[in-house]
Amino acid sequence: MSSGRSPYEAFWSSGDFRRTTDVFYAMAKDKNSQPKIRKPRSAHRCTSCGKEDQEHLSTCALCKCARYCNKECQVADYKARHKEECAAFVYPPMTRAFVTEPVGDEKYAQRPVFAHAYREGVGCWVSVDGEYDCDLKSLAEPMDIASEDFLTVMRRRMALVPASDAVSIGDQSKAFMRNLLTLSILVQNRRKDKTKVLVFGSQTQLVTLATTVDVLRRGRSTSNMEGIHMFEAGGNMLAAVSVAEDPWEKRPRLQIKNFDGLDIKNDTRPPAPITDAANGVVSLKPGEYVVYRIQFRVGDDDGLTTDFGALGRLAGLNLAFTLWEHGLNPTLLDYILSTTIHKDGHVPQGLGVLLDHHAIYQHYADFIEKGQEAFIESHFGRKRVDAFRTHFQSMDTIGRHMMRTLEHTDGGMDRFVAELRASGTSQEMVEKFERLRTTMAA
Ligand SMILES: [Zn+2]
Ligand SMILES: [Zn+2]
Repeated sequence: MSSGRSPYEAFWSSGDFRRTTDVFYAMAKDKNSQPKIRKPRSAHRCTSCGKEDQEHLSTCALCKCARYCNKECQVADYKARHKEECAAFVYPPMTRAFVTEPVGDEKYAQRPVFAHAYREGVGCWVSVDGEYDCDLKSLAEPMDIASEDFLTVMRRRMALVPASDAVSIGDQSKAFMRNLLTLSILVQNRRKDKTKVLVFGSQTQLVTLATTVDVLRRGRSTSNMEGIHMFEAGGNMLAAVSVAEDPWEKRPRLQIKNFDGLDIKNDTRPPAPITDAANGVVSLKPGEYVVYRIQFRVGDDDGLTTDFGALGRLAGLNLAFTLWEHGLNPTLLDYILSTTIHKDGHVPQGLGVLLDHHAIYQHYADFIEKGQEAFIESHFGRKRVDAFRTHFQSMDTIGRHMMRTLEHTDGGMDRFVAELRASGTSQEMVEKFERLRTTMAA
């Protein structure tokens, strides 16, 4: 072992690291590929007369939510109540990518609506994108952990990034901390004048009171305030947080999951209305919608570790869109918008969506009152609790491998812990390593 080589580096470049990440990610992949427990809706009903029908109901062209047997049912319902409901964006469009109501005898929805708002004929619904726990995600995880080429992606990253850079990525981003809130966001155009709408997913910003900004800062190293902008509105100081940037790919942590009912996979060519997949720029004709999965850095694996904790400290978000009448180049518009926001440090024009903290509390009540496992059981079933435990066992196994590597490196554990501290890693995280070391020695 060459002297002066960091234990950090030694670990990153060791065969053990490759092996343990392989174990971990194989398990993560396995966990995600388990069959979904939820069953699809068995039948649809006519929104007007209530008759059940599987195939022959037509949907309202604007909201894609209300369903009807025929023209008569549609006209009757439109007059009775749907006119108001459709224009007031009461319900999001029905889609498998964003199921906002509990299915069958379930108590909780897959995508509870935590916020919704509309402006100028554009509606937005916001939910979380939890897998099955409510822990914040980590920058070390790729966006799509279940993707086919997942292990390839990890290997490519590890191979491309020299050990010294990997250390600096870890230091800058606190890459192993749980600090990402993942939101699922549906945006729909319901304009009656046939105008297209251009949505800029990567320009979405979380908004919070400046008094809670310390919580958002903690997810970053002290020197890196990138992506946080302070601004004044209505006499209050507010903070806006931009979409997280992936430290490896250097692009926004954002995915388009669905376009107007079509699931978008990593290996499929995005349809033409997605003009810039990496930045989430999408044009929507009236009736069309897009579902995003977007990550923001908010936590630090210390005081803030869960989706619930993060949501509770946020006021809402701002969605950037523009009516698109003149056929301007969407990429150019996206560029203009991004430079305007980031240079001047203020929130762009868009749609303000306030979080409903009552709805958030209700969804996480089991977690708050009884803990993580109770939450998983009531929302996802007993099988997922077992998967959750397996996941933690695998983390423990990885930790043990890591300890063994470090014990045989220059300076060993003491130096590793010292380096962790120096890099700004939270006290809690350092203590985890120390505890693991003690249990191993025993
Ligand atoms: Zn009917
Ligand atoms: Zn409608």
